[in-house]
Amino acid sequence: MTGKILIVEDNPVNLKLVSFVLELEGCSILKATDAEQAQAILANTLPDLILMDIALPGMDGLTLTRLLKASPRTCRIPIVALTAFAMKGDDDRAMAAACDGYLSKPIDTRTFPSDVARFLPQTDNSQTKETP
Ligand code: MN
Repeated sequence: MTGKILIVEDNPVNLKLVSFVLELEGCSILKATDAEQAQAILANTLPDLILMDIALPGMDGLTLTRLLKASPRTCRIPIVALTAFAMKGDDDRAMAAACDGYLSKPIDTRTFPSDVARFLPQTDNSQTKETP
């Protein structure tokens, strides 16, 4: 599993766990703990996927998602919301904000990598995207 993934998450335990699990799978990880940091990273780097916490200090993850989806520079990056299982309606709000999908927290470390891989653009070198 390859790909550059930006994780936007203010909870240090979640951030560490999510990044650890994905680094083990071979992904390269960028980390931001708020929207400002995420925007600073995105000014320099375009990741293959963004994992977006919804509840962030300052600008929330759904507002940031709307901004990124409205920008020609970042609109094609898949954004997957990390929704708190206890927060009913977060999944609907994530889809309304044009997230490409959502995964609920706490994550299941056994299935999380394959859950995330579904949203990564195909980078398998054995197939070319142009082949019908
Ligand atoms: Mn949070």
